[in-house]
Amino acid sequence: MRAVPVVSSLRNVSPRKLEPIPYRPRQPLPSQLAQARERLARIEAGGSPSRPIDVESASQIEVRAESTPCLRCQGPNRVDEHAAEKLQGRALRVVRVHCHHCGARRVFYFRVSPAVAV
Ligand SMILES: [Zn+2]
Repeated sequence: MRAVPVVSSLRNVSPRKLEPIPYRPRQPLPSQLAQARERLARIEAGGSPSRPIDVESASQIEVRAESTPCLRCQGPNRVDEHAAEKLQGRALRVVRVHCHHCGARRVFYFRVSPAVAV
């Protein structure tokens, strides 16, 4: 069996294509736009107790919350607290997160409903 010449294929790439992309720090959005995005997020699924995100299992909750980027800077969210609470007569999971980059806080509401899996 012959070895695949991986390294030699890189020699054919123009050195110009290998130049690093200049570093661009993540910039927070202008505050008016950020506030508008936060208002919109509050009326989307997961933004209020009356509109929770339905998940099949509690194990999906923190993964979903952390995979949703920050509304202000698109940075990664980190979970501060994951609590089971009874709000508006419903058993909900309330997940409080903060942005690892800009520190913006956000609250997600989830409802564990195994029936979603059917
Ligand atoms: Zn952020």
